[in-house]
Amino acid sequence: MAKYIFVTGGVTSSLGKGIIAASLAKLLQARGITATIQKFDPYINVDPGTLNPYEHGECYVTEDGAETDLDLGHYERFLNTPTSQANNVTTGRIYQTVINKERAGEFLGKTVQVVPHITDEIKRRMMLLGEAGKFDVVITEIGGTVGDIESTPFIETVRQIQWELPVEDVMVVHLTLIPYLNAAKELKTKPTQHSVRMLSETGVHPDVIVCRTEHPLTDDIKRKIALFCNVKAGNVIESLDASTIYEVPLLMQKEQLDLIVMKKLNITKFNEPDLTKWNVFLTKLKNPKSIVNIGLIGKYIELQDAYKSILESFIHAGAMNEVKVNVVNVHSENITSENVNEKLDGLDGLLVAPGFGNRGIEGKIIAVQYARENKMPFFGICLGMQMAVIEFARNVLGLKQAHSVEMDPNSPDPVINMMEEQKRITMMGGTMRLGSYPCLITENTLAHKIYGTTSINERHRHRYEFNNEYLNAFHEKGMVTSGLNPATGLVEIVELPNHPFFIGVQYHPELKSTVEAPAPLFVYFIEAAKKHATTTA
Ligand code: GLN
Repeated sequence: MAKYIFVTGGVTSSLGKGIIAASLAKLLQARGITATIQKFDPYINVDPGTLNPYEHGECYVTEDGAETDLDLGHYERFLNTPTSQANNVTTGRIYQTVINKERAGEFLGKTVQVVPHITDEIKRRMMLLGEAGKFDVVITEIGGTVGDIESTPFIETVRQIQWELPVEDVMVVHLTLIPYLNAAKELKTKPTQHSVRMLSETGVHPDVIVCRTEHPLTDDIKRKIALFCNVKAGNVIESLDASTIYEVPLLMQKEQLDLIVMKKLNITKFNEPDLTKWNVFLTKLKNPKSIVNIGLIGKYIELQDAYKSILESFIHAGAMNEVKVNVVNVHSENITSENVNEKLDGLDGLLVAPGFGNRGIEGKIIAVQYARENKMPFFGICLGMQMAVIEFARNVLGLKQAHSVEMDPNSPDPVINMMEEQKRITMMGGTMRLGSYPCLITENTLAHKIYGTTSINERHRHRYEFNNEYLNAFHEKGMVTSGLNPATGLVEIVELPNHPFFIGVQYHPELKSTVEAPAPLFVYFIEAAKKHATTTA
């Protein structure tokens, strides 16, 4: 059976529990210990699929088609192993399961209560991934901050697990903030003391305290935190602000977090850490030879989390190409035919982002036209691909009113149509075409050059598709459909051969880009942008 590590957060949200959990898992993995990470989120939505990106950032889709928290993206990018539905559980999903059981009469007339019924279901799911024998360690990130009403049942369940399992099989890592008071020139430990006290009141005691801080912690401060929070002196570690999240595993290694954890969990079989690939990546990331400017055309650009996986994919692809990718956010609502030259001139590539609904659509179409006509590298993802199809229909095929039925249900030329199986669906949550599907690539196309194979699998999240009734018309005018779903013929990739780099994909390649295996489409897009930068310099 696996050993369990719980990561809780204190003082404030946004301290980066996900990055700390991922870094710890990475360090264990580097020593030959298999680890997975799961996240328990306190909100009532069954999953984040129905949440607006402004509320919750990007919705990360797993291989098996679960719509999950964006922290799962970090887990995969760090570990280079896929997660699944089981890796993300919300309060909503817990209650849904328990209520369904109640309706089925499974509680045999008992009163159904938070303790034990809700906590039992939380416990079942917390233990699940560790029971398959696939992992040595399961790290569970508890969303929210200790003291929140919403996360109380999760913390109570951690208490029960800590009580039930042998001491060497479970541990708690508490992430907290040590604020620096500029006026007093002092780091303050009081908020941390309070948050550990609050955690202890619920019966959960941390084994390690990881302190987020802008300034290094002195030994005195560490000792003080250890004493007042009742943890071993060596188990208070600092987590200094880093220039990139990809440096955090190394910072944690310096603080010996992996050693502390292995000691507490009595893990005696481990290797010397092998972070060779990670370090090669980091060296390249930190020593770019040049810079490329990529326009990210989207409607959620005010919130960086909305395009998290795309931004991280740029970082992976930039390091691979030894360039710094400078992402210029362009709000699609602000692009018009009059100002498009001024807005996009000087960029080395355009990525038109995924999205839903009508807002900012015309700006995206104008941006595609600009990239196509000016031979600027273009990369469209999901909605971005659909916009490339609409642009081509309107401006090359001359179908002036071409549109997607998502935006214009009455368009005389619905070049993007609702997928057949979607037409019967009325519920919103979890009903899109989700997760990994195969795609067959035509030989001697740009896609073939990029992937180096004719058979790929990529992840999806959409309701609409290329309308194959228009296939011939597009082919006649030179748009190539270079990737198709083998079962349905659904167009997955479109490209333009008479252009340095013009490609649109119905799927989300950003969801599979990791430090050790950057997404090929991003790598080639950045390479094309690099060429564009040198030829236009
Ligand atoms: N709104 C489009 C669809 O549902 C695109 C979705 C997306 O970009 N993820 O097909």
